[in-house]
Amino acid sequence: MKVVVVGGGVIGAASAWSLAKRGHVVTLVEQFQPGHKSGASHGTSRIFRHAYAEDYYVGLAARAYTLWRELEIDTGTDLLTITGAVDHGVPDIVRPRIEALRRAGLAGEVLDPNEAHRRWPGMTFDTTVLHHPDAGRLHADRSVAALTAAAEKLGVRTEYGSAVREILRTEVSTDVGSFAADHVVVAAGAWTSRIASAHVSMPELVTTQEQPAHFLPILDASWPSFVHHPGAALQTEGIYGLASEDGVKIGEHGTGPVVDPDTREFTPAPEGVERLKSYARAWLPGVDVDSADPLTCLYTTTADSNFIVDRSGNLTVAAGFSGHGFKFAPAVGELVADLVDGRTLGTALFELGPRTRESAA
Ligand SMILES: Cc1cc2nc3c(=O)[nH]c(=O)nc-3n(C[C@H](O)[C@H](O)[C@H](O)COP(=O)(O)OP(=O)(O)OC[C@H]3O[C@@H](n4cnc5c(N)ncnc54)[C@H](O)[C@@H]3O)c2cc1C
Repeated sequence: MKVVVVGGGVIGAASAWSLAKRGHVVTLVEQFQPGHKSGASHGTSRIFRHAYAEDYYVGLAARAYTLWRELEIDTGTDLLTITGAVDHGVPDIVRPRIEALRRAGLAGEVLDPNEAHRRWPGMTFDTTVLHHPDAGRLHADRSVAALTAAAEKLGVRTEYGSAVREILRTEVSTDVGSFAADHVVVAAGAWTSRIASAHVSMPELVTTQEQPAHFLPILDASWPSFVHHPGAALQTEGIYGLASEDGVKIGEHGTGPVVDPDTREFTPAPEGVERLKSYARAWLPGVDVDSADPLTCLYTTTADSNFIVDRSGNLTVAAGFSGHGFKFAPAVGELVADLVDGRTLGTALFELGPRTRESAA
């Protein structure tokens, strides 16, 4: 089948790879150049973890782990570094994650805050700490490049600098020409509704500009990836963090201003940087608080933080990754290929259609 994938971020690239593995003739169309920083998939790091309260996500992460390793072998690239991860904060939030790991037969141990600080002296902890050793970090830029390279090796044609204007019955029209399509996959991140809503009823998607920051480490300590859930002694929003080649990255989850992806200014808000510095001062003795170096990136969020991966007619939508989609990308690519092949996903979590507000992340 001729499939056009709209969007060359991590999800579009992963979809193209999976579709090509199944023998489809794929064209991937991306409005910007490879490695651009205007969407959601750029930078040097993303957390990889299985610790979700919902079993479906735990299984999806496990499948993604296998595929990331396959991609590393296929492309000869290091993508996934295992560092372990910790979830800490309110026991009621941490406990369901421990139980979900156990149900999946994945490793996880509960530590008290003092023991956790002894192991990771760059951090301090308050209440329950869940350590899951199979987690770590992905190199984001290298991962997108590897997915694209693996797809191209299987014959996928990539068209950069080519913005899709309209999806017609048997072709996709762009500002540099048209591409024949039996099926179209829209994986266009913050731009998805603009392209897909002429054909499907899209759930609400909210685009925000998020601004994590890198801090220089001052201790020669190991750093797990971490999620500090709000509540207990953390009186602000939840915070995530991880080590990377640019320093220790920390960020608030989904607190940025609503923006238009075409007109945003890419300027981090100083008050957001100050909040991250306050967090680092209180909880991260292993970083130089004054070294904060912010960057911006887009979240495209659904009302319940569950993804949209669904098909309507000859159009499949993969969007709304709500600030936690990177780790799953190759497994999501397989779901997209399943839908294109006429299979169903066996979950209602990702269906098109209205969502109610509750968080999965
Ligand atoms: C600060 C930050 C931290 C994050 N941390 C994590 C983490 O630790 N772990 C994790 O799992 N996830 C994390 N995420 C989430 C993850 O990065 C995203 O879920 C993921 O990158 C979304 O990828 P995407 O392909 O859907 O979107 P994008 O990367 O935005 O790709 C969409 C692409 O479509 C293209 N496009 C749009 N319109 C058109 C058009 N008309 N024609 C052609 N091309 C078009 C765009 O140019 C873009 O390249 C984080 C996100 C941010 C912003």
